[in-house]
Amino acid sequence: MAEKTISSPFRIHKITVKKPFPIKYKEKIVCPYCKNSEEFYELIENATFIIHYFQNENGTLETLEEEVEILGPIRFFCGNCHADLSYLREK
Ligand SMILES: [Zn+2]
Repeated sequence: MAEKTISSPFRIHKITVKKPFPIKYKEKIVCPYCKNSEEFYELIENATFIIHYFQNENGTLETLEEEVEILGPIRFFCGNCHADLSYLREK
């Protein structure tokens, strides 16, 4: 059989949605300025990335570990009119 046994996170999500009992969905975020409810973006301030490398004998660097330290604030924006919607996300 050629069927793959490894399932991706996307697959797991699809199975969860198909379950026959009702799932409570979070109230949708709608931009009060342009009524956009589809595209948003997040701006993370004061983030420190620490990347640990191992140098191979041929001089190439191999990533061993990545650490992210977020001090914030994290701001949430409308992807259409770029209004700051951080207060809607915190609900
Ligand atoms: Zn908007």
